[in-house]
Amino acid sequence: MIGKIHKQMSHDSWLFSKMATPEYTPFVFLLLLFQSSVWGVPVCQTPQESPTCGYKSCHATKPGMLNVHLVPHTHDDVGWLKTVDQYFYGDRNDIQHAGVQYILDSVVDQLLKNPDRRFIYVETAFFYRWWKQQTDDMQNTVKQLVNEGRLEFVNGGWCMSDEATTHYSAVIDQMTMGLRFLNDTFGHCGRPRVAWHIDPFGHAREHASMFAQMGYDGFFFGRLDYQDRNRRMVAREQEMLWRASESLTPPMADLFTGILPNGYNPPEGFCWDQSCDDPPIRDDPDLEDYNVDDVVTRFLHIAHGQALVYKTNHIIMTMGSDFQYENANLWYKNLDKLIRYVNQMQSNGSEVNVLYSTPSCYLQELHRANLTWPLKGDDFFPYADSAHDFWTGYFTSRPALKRYERISNSYLQTCKQLEVLGGPISRKGPFGAGDSETLKKAMAVAQHHDAVSGTEKQHVANDYARKLANGWAHCQVLVSNTLSSLSGSSAPRVYCEHLNISVCPLTETSKKFSVNVYNPLARPVSWPVRLPVNGTAYSISDAKGKAVDSQVVPVSQATAAVRQGRGYAVNELLFQVQAPPLGYSTYSVSLLQNGPPSPPSPLPRAPKAVQNKFLRVTFDPETGLLSSLSNLETQQTVKLSQNFYWYNASDGNNSESIQMSGAYIFRPNTSTPFIISKTAKIETLQNSVVQEVRQWFSPWVSQVVRLYTDSRALELEWTVGPVPIGDDLGKEVISRLDSSINSSGVFYTDSNGREVLQRRKDYRPTWNLRQSEPIAGNYYPINSRAYIKDDKDQLTVVTDRSQGGGSIQDGSLEIMLHRRLLYDDVRGVGEPLNETSDIYPEGLVVRGRHLLSLSPPATAADTHRPLAQEVVLQPLITFTDGELHPSTRLEFSGLQAVLPPAVHLLTVSQWDQDTVLLRLEHQYQASESKEHSQPVTVNLQKLFSTLDVLGVSEMNLSANQWKDEMTRLDWKAESGEKPLPKRGGDPSVWEVNLKPMEIRTFLLRVRQR
Ligand SMILES: [Zn+2]
Repeated sequence: MIGKIHKQMSHDSWLFSKMATPEYTPFVFLLLLFQSSVWGVPVCQTPQESPTCGYKSCHATKPGMLNVHLVPHTHDDVGWLKTVDQYFYGDRNDIQHAGVQYILDSVVDQLLKNPDRRFIYVETAFFYRWWKQQTDDMQNTVKQLVNEGRLEFVNGGWCMSDEATTHYSAVIDQMTMGLRFLNDTFGHCGRPRVAWHIDPFGHAREHASMFAQMGYDGFFFGRLDYQDRNRRMVAREQEMLWRASESLTPPMADLFTGILPNGYNPPEGFCWDQSCDDPPIRDDPDLEDYNVDDVVTRFLHIAHGQALVYKTNHIIMTMGSDFQYENANLWYKNLDKLIRYVNQMQSNGSEVNVLYSTPSCYLQELHRANLTWPLKGDDFFPYADSAHDFWTGYFTSRPALKRYERISNSYLQTCKQLEVLGGPISRKGPFGAGDSETLKKAMAVAQHHDAVSGTEKQHVANDYARKLANGWAHCQVLVSNTLSSLSGSSAPRVYCEHLNISVCPLTETSKKFSVNVYNPLARPVSWPVRLPVNGTAYSISDAKGKAVDSQVVPVSQATAAVRQGRGYAVNELLFQVQAPPLGYSTYSVSLLQNGPPSPPSPLPRAPKAVQNKFLRVTFDPETGLLSSLSNLETQQTVKLSQNFYWYNASDGNNSESIQMSGAYIFRPNTSTPFIISKTAKIETLQNSVVQEVRQWFSPWVSQVVRLYTDSRALELEWTVGPVPIGDDLGKEVISRLDSSINSSGVFYTDSNGREVLQRRKDYRPTWNLRQSEPIAGNYYPINSRAYIKDDKDQLTVVTDRSQGGGSIQDGSLEIMLHRRLLYDDVRGVGEPLNETSDIYPEGLVVRGRHLLSLSPPATAADTHRPLAQEVVLQPLITFTDGELHPSTRLEFSGLQAVLPPAVHLLTVSQWDQDTVLLRLEHQYQASESKEHSQPVTVNLQKLFSTLDVLGVSEMNLSANQWKDEMTRLDWKAESGEKPLPKRGGDPSVWEVNLKPMEIRTFLLRVRQR
């Protein structure tokens, strides 16, 4: 369908000319709606084929019987034990026998042999690789299979994303990319109806909300807490309606959700892959070992048992597993026979009917059953598969990769914005060919449930990071091209990717350079910059030539140590920069020749307090630890201390269970963590830009408590590692905040960086929990923020990457920072999580930030929402050496005006030559903020400063359907409430209305001004 849009939009009548004055626009919009439905037929779907894909292609079922839907499928991890490319080719079969190219070859061949056969395919990252290598003939054959519903895509994102550690922005992007490929390639019949997350280790409510808004009719998964599962089996509540948002009007975020019977495996005894050992169907009565009767009896027994725990006379069986169907003949030959022999029994009175099916065909039957379904409001975290086996370790596993993934998302959004703002020149010159495609693909792969989750083998983690780095390199060329075009300066641009550890060869040596700060947010930001330097005094001027206050401070010992020989700056230059919305500002920096010989040395003691105009922080002079935090604007104060601890990771040698802590599983040996040091050695620096207290706890743990002059948040920059293992004890390191807040066993975490869920200690909203792991069983994923509160005070922590955390005591909030483990946890990865590298042979050192704010609960979101967006989409800083040409444009904004504070510009991305994909998001929840939880309106024509918006069409969240063509199956909840009426219309074609937590997706036809 999308391929068609471009063609439609080049059609004259589609052009919104400048004559499209506001009076004419309603007419034009109607025309557009009309055309979108008339012309919205997929480009590759020719009428004579009259495709019968989707629900129309399902095999007939038998109403009075138990219908068993056999779903042949393969689960192809986009990297895990092998890299994504090794999996595709079937390389390194010594690690794991798996080759996706052979799977697709073999399945297509087998589908052609019998039109009854069905197959579903899920991961577009693999399918795309395979498709590129096929002949025209083969491509046409496959299109035919897709058009007949014999090969069906489900889920269809680039990968099957992790749900605990991903950010919604990156998930939407990866889904959009996979679904677009399917749309472009197969049109209407390539659009998946069902979301399919059979393997992720717990399920996020925000994922369900996104899937609903992407137009999926239903969602199936395999893993949930064993206690939850047992209760649901007894109550026959394994299929439900998930109401996945507290802000969006139902049924906008309602998603029918089903739990698969065997995870995603076949029933026991019925695995006929070459990787399995179950007996084939031996159906020649003349030969020995004839076993048809036995197979049929066993199958009927399993089917009847399964029917007892589901509501309808339809059940589903997943006939496949990890990387199965490489020799699909084995599976299909036996499935053909199974269907024949089981159904033959119907003549003897059997009431079981077996058929080839797909998840959407099964879903259709559930819908036809016209039942009411239990309503689900919370999420499926944490996931435990046994009493001592909580999959809560991976919330933190591989913290460095998790940060690199998050910052890569920021960089990708900037890259895509600058591709739009720069126009075609961004991809051509003057610095050569640049693109955003490489980083888009690398980021999409990184969302996989064994990528950013940290549950892959070490060499695979390295491959994800290498792919991201390669994507950065391609984007850097694009960014340089655009910034050169926008600024009029073709001076070479320098990127410094190690500013967090004060490494940047240019600033370390240059006497005169400029700093370009690009801001990807739709509102101006003020951002502290720290540059590694060797001078002692600098003069800095902003884009208007005004002097900027700056300070030089010595590099800390912790930073010098973590550099491991890279960079040799002795000082850091600090100043605050401002950048306009979707734009940049340029600062000139010159070394002052007659500066002081060295910057003032830090004082070797803790101050009583540090404060700016917003916050005041006190320290305990005895220990050097934090002792209180005050908000000076609201005049509230809480007692607050913070320290670092480690849990002793279980080695499995334990009376309760032999489970070890590993890449997936968190299992401390005792519930009491070990303190790293009761006191910290302190150095204090206070100047006009920043006040910082440097705390040194041990050779492997240090922290800087920082308060910038203009900040409403207190920064805790922690540095942890190499985690020592000389004592043969695995360690899981946490930062714990202990406050006087009366949190009553409750804390809050975000879901994929968006809506917030309440978490209660030793409690689950949907079943009576028997808590068996007092720490690990109270851990939840934190993607961007967590908070505790009482009636008066809310303490919010904004994180810079996904981490796990919990609130074990009232007033306390702990966040796991780093894990170093000595044992594998027997969930398949086969390696202990013990990260080292060439640069850090003694063990990985990880640095990150927590941003703390204290507010009354009623206004807390006004601080943490914008703060978290600033951390997710942070400014991109680039450098040019020497003096800039006087004609250089030092400041630029891509927007005509700042967007309202509630609005987040989620996506600005080039779609086709003349079209841009735009997503606008209301970033507040309903009732979260008195000021901002209100509907807001944005005028699309008054958005960009460099682009005329000529036409607009709204799409679903994943941009693979026109919004007005998106129809979903409707489902009734047991509670009996009716869906509310549809949202009110927009004020006009160009003025779009956003309600709390709404994301709206538009395809804009644009022209460069
Ligand atoms: Zn998997």
